[in-house]
This record gives sequence, C-alpha cells and structure tokens, in this order.
Amino acid sequence: MRIVLFGPPGAGKGTQARLLEERHSLTQIATGDIIREAMKNETPVGKEAKSYVEKGELVPDSVVRKLAEQAIADQDFDDFVLDGYPRTTQQAEWLTAFLEENDAPLHAVPSLHVPDDVIVDRLSKRRMHKETGDTYHLDHNPPPADVDDDMIIQRDDDRPETVRNRLAVYRDETEPLEEYYRERDLLVVVNGVGDIEDVHGRILDALEQAQTSARAE
Ligand code: AMP
Repeated sequence: MRIVLFGPPGAGKGTQARLLEERHSLTQIATGDIIREAMKNETPVGKEAKSYVEKGELVPDSVVRKLAEQAIADQDFDDFVLDGYPRTTQQAEWLTAFLEENDAPLHAVPSLHVPDDVIVDRLSKRRMHKETGDTYHLDHNPPPADVDDDMIIQRDDDRPETVRNRLAVYRDETEPLEEYYRERDLLVVVNGVGDIEDVHGRILDALEQAQTSARAE
C-alpha cells in the first residue's frame, strides 16, 4: 500500500506513521527525519536545510524532492507511508508524476484534523529521543522511566515562536493540498483528536474505506 499521511505539524503524523510501520509492515518515509539526520551529520543537504528548518520555513522543493524520491525508490515504490511530504503543490505534482512513471499510484491520503489549540499544546509539550527520534508528550505519553533524561530533548523548531511560523506556513502552502487530493478521490479526513490508539483505529478504518471504494470502481 502507498499512503501519504497528511496534516499540520503536531497532528500526530509521525506517531501514527510509526504505528503503521510497526504493525502493518509499511515503511515510514519522513522527510523531516531525513533532513534532521542530514543536519546532524552536517552533510551538504543538512547544511543547506539548517537555516530554513530553524526558522520554521520549508526547505526548497528541489532539495526535498531528491530526498523523497530516493527514499521511495529505495522502498521499491511500495509499502510506504509518507510523513511530511508533499508539503507544496509543486511537491505534490512531482510526486504524482514520479509515482505514475513507476506504475505506483497512491492508494489513499488520510488527513489528520486537529484544532490549533491542541496542536500548540502538543508541540510545546513534545519531546524527542535524540538518537532514536521517538517522540513523546510530557502529559499524555511521557518518556518511559528507563530512558535516560539526557537523551530527551525539545526540538528547536518546537519552540513557541517557530511553532507559530510553521502553522502559518502550513496554512499558506500545505493546506491547499487537501483540495488537490480531494479532487483525485484520495483524501479521507480523519479526526486526529484523542488517544493514539483511537486515532490509529480511525486511520485503519479510513484505509479500509479507501480500499473498498477502489475495489468497487
Ligand atoms: P517535520 O519533522 O515534518 O515537522 O519537518 C521539520 C522541518 O523539515 C520542516 O519544518 C521543514 O523545514 C523541513 N521539511 C520537512 N519536510 C519538508 C517538505 N516536504 N518540504 C519542505 N520542507 C520540509
């Protein structure tokens, strides 16, 4: 199955993509994780991306395109869940063309809907394991007791000033893609509020629904 998991920063895309990976044999392709890894390793892409990521801006389309296409090809064009890609109309158009050229069209685009106040709460209380990239929420999903405190960090771009900018960028550049995927009959809106297992169940229902309607065609 080929899925784009869509939604604003803090909607739970990463958490849910990881669950799909663990339980349903889909590989998570998260451009944000790939970019953070490149920044950590100070590769040319990492150095180029740094100033954008730190301000909560989008990294240029042409840079992210290469990373995403490489990861999809490495996955033999199947069994993946894209998390954080595409984020602009240009990226979506490139992705559609790239997948079509490789006979690998998307099956569904579940879109996680979460109100802004919940997003701000989730991002301000989000913490990350600096090596594994696992994410936690200080109240609802705290780091386990056996994890060393020194390993738990707040992402620089989860600080309040940057969060505001990331949400504005999402509204301006990324949200219009809902319409792009609705027009292509791929979009399934999913309520992203509630506990992790409930949201996971709703995503599975959405994927089931998408498969049933594809079979009926
Ligand atoms: P994320 O972990 O998905 O929130 O991504 C962290 C940051 O990486 C974003 O705020 C952007 O600066 C950059 N980034 C990740 N994915 C993309 C993308 N598809 N297009 C442009 N920038 C991206």
